[in-house]
Amino acid sequence: MRIAVIGSGYAGTTLAAGLAALDHDVTAVDIDPEIVSSINAGEAPIHEPGLDQLLSEHAGQNLTATTEYAAIRDAAIVFIAVQTPSREDGSIDVAPLRGAVQSAARTLAEESHRDDGHVVAIKSTVTPPQVSALRDEILEIAGDAVHLELAMNPEFLREGSAVEDFLNPNKLVFGTDASLARERLEAAFTPLIADASPAVIHTDPETASMIKYANNAFLAAKISLINDLGNICKVFGIDAYEVAEAIGTDDRIGERFLRSGVGFGGSCFPKDVRAIIAASTEAGYEPSLLSAALAVNDGQPDRMLDLLERHTTPAESRVAVLGLAFKPGTDDIRNSRSIPVIEGLLERGATVIAYDPVATKQMRERFPDIEYARSAREALDGAGAALVLTAWDEFAALNGAFEEMSDRIVIDGRRVIEPQDGMTYEGLTW
Ligand code: NAD
Repeated sequence: MRIAVIGSGYAGTTLAAGLAALDHDVTAVDIDPEIVSSINAGEAPIHEPGLDQLLSEHAGQNLTATTEYAAIRDAAIVFIAVQTPSREDGSIDVAPLRGAVQSAARTLAEESHRDDGHVVAIKSTVTPPQVSALRDEILEIAGDAVHLELAMNPEFLREGSAVEDFLNPNKLVFGTDASLARERLEAAFTPLIADASPAVIHTDPETASMIKYANNAFLAAKISLINDLGNICKVFGIDAYEVAEAIGTDDRIGERFLRSGVGFGGSCFPKDVRAIIAASTEAGYEPSLLSAALAVNDGQPDRMLDLLERHTTPAESRVAVLGLAFKPGTDDIRNSRSIPVIEGLLERGATVIAYDPVATKQMRERFPDIEYARSAREALDGAGAALVLTAWDEFAALNGAFEEMSDRIVIDGRRVIEPQDGMTYEGLTW
């Protein structure tokens, strides 16, 4: 099938490469020429395990990238995966997505090379009312010139294991209004449906959007609930992980997403929870539990700083921040918990030296004036305290490196460090 993917960021590049791996002819469209060159050279524009390999296998074969919308003229499905950032009030700024949707619809209305119509499938995360508005807009642009159907096909992949998740989805959600969209979406993913047996959910576009928000809101609330319980454990001197292991045996609770710590970040959970709160509030219902989930999450970095201040005066200390990416396996720092922690350290007058295996370049743009180390060992050398913000495997293997610190104060936000003799070790919730 000829498929176009508009927007080649974290979600779009994985989708384009994954669809190429399923033997479709894929055109990736992005307005950023550097991203386009990188994809055409077979190199991932972002850090994502397995993505370089997929791109090197398919770029120049059945995957091409371009900045030209004309390349979508013969696509049976045009996926749109451009960013949907938060506004100040948490609502989604739909302008970049609208721009892409309008450009796609106009191109298809004016230059379509198919006489059997096109499906415009939104991958970007937008609220149900925004989906309805986009449908109206697409149909108005299409008019009688071309048959267009809007679909909502939300993305559930996790950064850090996005390629793996694409190839082994646990569910596929196809939100469609009519049969062409339904048939084409199912056909596009047929090899995955055959191999990975995901749940296949057919519904309307607005419900598909709500499924995406409900999924992320549920997971974010689960993390905040275990963090809230973890904070209670900490004040009672109880290990939250022992409690979590016990309650996880109850299959109504489940053992996953019970790792308490410094909280969730990334481009999805914080943004999506804020967006669904804003959209729902606008429509007349204020979801108090989801607001509480955000409040707990916002408080966790401060709790790490409070723990640090129990053992040292930050203004007199050189503090190593280990981990800048919002989670291991990615170079994405959007909403990373390391950002409020670094801000808090700077407000307190600390000297900060930061390290991450892949996300230093991104964080340097955010904090150009702090020091960056080339290794965790270098960051620890001479530091009075270390704060662990990302659960990179290499931090668990640091062992002797802590001996190079001037004071061995370690505040662990991810439970990755094994406490050692001579170390003042504090776990956030244990
Ligand atoms: P991103 O910022 O990494 O990528 C967006 C890309 O779209 C950029 O490369 C940008 O240059 C391009 N773009 C912007 N306007 C364009 C236009 N008019 N035409 C062509 N290209 C354009 O964003 P992302 O993280 O990939 O997220 C994209 C969407 O997918 C968001 O709605 C997000 O909520 C959703 N999503 C992301 C993930 C994830 O893992 N990152 C997971 C699920 C859902």
